[in-house]
Amino acid sequence: MTVPLLDLKVQNGALDSELKAAFERVLYSGHYILGAEVEGLERELSAVTGTRHVIGVSSGTDAILLALMALEVGPGDEVICPSFTFFATAGCIARTGAKPVFVDSERDGFGMDLEDAARRITSRTKAILPVHLFGEMEQMEAVLALAKEHGLSVVEDAAQALGAARDGRKAGSWGDFGAYSFFPSKNLGCLGDGGALATNDDRLAERARILRVHGMAPKYYHKFIGGNFRIDPLQAAFLRVKLGHYDEYTRGRQAHAAFYRDRLGSVPGVRVGGGEILLPSAGEGSFHIWNQFTMRVRSEGGSSSRRDALRDFLVERQIGCEIYYPKALHTQECFAYLGQVEGSLPRAEALARECISIPVFPELTPSQREEVVGAVEAFLR
Ligand SMILES: *Cc1c(COP(=O)(O)O)cnc(C)c1O
Repeated sequence: MTVPLLDLKVQNGALDSELKAAFERVLYSGHYILGAEVEGLERELSAVTGTRHVIGVSSGTDAILLALMALEVGPGDEVICPSFTFFATAGCIARTGAKPVFVDSERDGFGMDLEDAARRITSRTKAILPVHLFGEMEQMEAVLALAKEHGLSVVEDAAQALGAARDGRKAGSWGDFGAYSFFPSKNLGCLGDGGALATNDDRLAERARILRVHGMAPKYYHKFIGGNFRIDPLQAAFLRVKLGHYDEYTRGRQAHAAFYRDRLGSVPGVRVGGGEILLPSAGEGSFHIWNQFTMRVRSEGGSSSRRDALRDFLVERQIGCEIYYPKALHTQECFAYLGQVEGSLPRAEALARECISIPVFPELTPSQREEVVGAVEAFLR
């Protein structure tokens, strides 16, 4: 049986008539830039993010960039971020002219080692950019305490974490800004690119709204140098349809994650706390939304050989899997100029050698999940 890593046709096909109605609503409105559809989405997202303001933007990447621009991060500034994350986190920092300063990963889990972060703060550090990777929140109390101590702005990369929470407080609502992505593989995906930026700060919200349209206020008078960071009303309309099903999607992902932890956790060699394969877990007080179910596969000598063997084994059996992410950012060619050499962030580098993600999308069927568990069992036998 084939098990895809993600099947968007099933999710969107089930919404056939609702999505077509949304398309027609936009088509016949004659209004294709910002306006009521985008405002409607922003209002509805506000309830999900628990923030006063939400600004619909063109992508998760642009949400991060816009946040940094609104905070006036630029040349001469340093911004702290994890090395084990998707490229956009650090790419946006570099695009403002600031310097990304990469931090190692925590001992367990996928977040930042905040002691390492503290050691890397200098007089030039302007902001810290935690990432809620794979749908689980970073330890935000500690991030905020560190930021407060050093007077840093906080931008949360919540691209994978819309609706995730920690002690009841939502991802993206803790920092100065929270950035979300609606790339199709995210938990709330549109039919193309899209994103959003959240904030509780009225002044920052105003600034971000102006920067979204070339820094223009009023029309043709440019206060700042902004860009075109607008989300399309068509994508906003699709997202509003899918937002109505979002809780159900989250429950599906959580049920699959619980199933894997239960079933895989009883396979010899697989454990939550260790073993050859290490299963992910949700921390205390954490509402994990499982954008990915990411395991760690240990090899003797610390290479990627066992993980790569599991990947080949799953691919052979037509079971979708992916390596998020195979190369820590501080070792990427484009960031060589920063001088954070290979070997300097050992935990982030180990994650890049050990991680593998298996299917956890909401529409996964019971027999498909059995197939995945059976394949991992067979691999270890
Ligand atoms: C997807 C993602 C982004 C970028 O979002 P896009 O909408 O693809 O631009 C940024 N950071 C993380 C952690 C992501 O997963």
